[in-house]
Amino acid sequence: MSKSKGYAALKAKAPLAPYSFERREPRERDVVIEIKYCGICHSDIHQTRDEWSEYQEESIFPMVPGHEIAGVVSSVGSKVTKYKVGDKVGVGCFVDSCRTCAECKAGLEQYCTVHTVWTYNARDKEGTPTYGGYSDRIVVDENYVLRMPSNLPLDACAPLLCAGITLYSPLKHWNAGPGKKVAIVGLGGLGHMGVKLAHALGAEVTVLSQSLKKQADGKRLGADHYYATSDAETFTKLKGTFDLIINTVSAQLDWSEYLSLLKVDGTMVIVGLPEKDIPIDAFSLGAGRRSLAGSQIGGIRETQEMLDFCAQHGLTCDIEVVPMQKVNEAYERVLKSDVRYRFVIDMATL
Ligand SMILES: [Zn+2]
Ligand SMILES: [Zn+2]
Repeated sequence: MSKSKGYAALKAKAPLAPYSFERREPRERDVVIEIKYCGICHSDIHQTRDEWSEYQEESIFPMVPGHEIAGVVSSVGSKVTKYKVGDKVGVGCFVDSCRTCAECKAGLEQYCTVHTVWTYNARDKEGTPTYGGYSDRIVVDENYVLRMPSNLPLDACAPLLCAGITLYSPLKHWNAGPGKKVAIVGLGGLGHMGVKLAHALGAEVTVLSQSLKKQADGKRLGADHYYATSDAETFTKLKGTFDLIINTVSAQLDWSEYLSLLKVDGTMVIVGLPEKDIPIDAFSLGAGRRSLAGSQIGGIRETQEMLDFCAQHGLTCDIEVVPMQKVNEAYERVLKSDVRYRFVIDMATL
């Protein structure tokens, strides 16, 4: 075991505070990563505040959150072939999976039916708690490590590992591209990446946001159209318009209303996670053979494809870099949507 330091919630709902803990000694296929940056994802807040307890077996405290991890390889195990010391690498939402089920074999490790080992607030195959990226280093099997774009700043790429892939995967799966009309609901950490990626994929992109407050930003990010959902006219005007809607907001929206904006055979994909159940009017699905779907991050292969796509198109996240000591303040600002569009912690400040 070797010492690592970071910031943790020592118990549920506690503010994050400095914390020292143990990482495993690197095994022969392990990569040791010196963490340079870690994005702040809304789910970090939910998890440290134990707000998802009904969806998981246990919450493990002290909890070191963080699953948008970007850093540099500082050492490698004897059998590592994919990475070498000095490489710019990343780690996303999971660090292992069973590797043998049909989903793992298909590169869909995030849907592993046996055991996806999440990057934090989980247990690895030995039962040891996992600790995330708000820390100085992490030890991960090379097969679950990503190569970061060499031509782009590492800090602005960190959030691609959750926010980026969360949007890229459904955009690809439901064929966003030239000739397709795609709507992104909500222009936050997820939504702003949805706009950039859908635009780069060649789709005609519309932002559906509560107000027109961020309209100029939306257009700058690549949106062709921008509508306020607080204006009832929007729903009349855009009825039957979209091939694909990606809903990134966790607010209690009337999903039936949004489904009515889809064309025949259109799909609305849910990637935001509302706290309470949302009722659906079956007519809004039946009238137009529409689908309501969900999607959760992406597998290793697809995450690498997304990073390579971003490298090729020069796409990064719009970020605000904060020192580790300001993480609790940053959490409060995330809850108020007071960030454009993702906080990234500079680990040099740890
Ligand atoms: Zn996340
Ligand atoms: Zn599996």
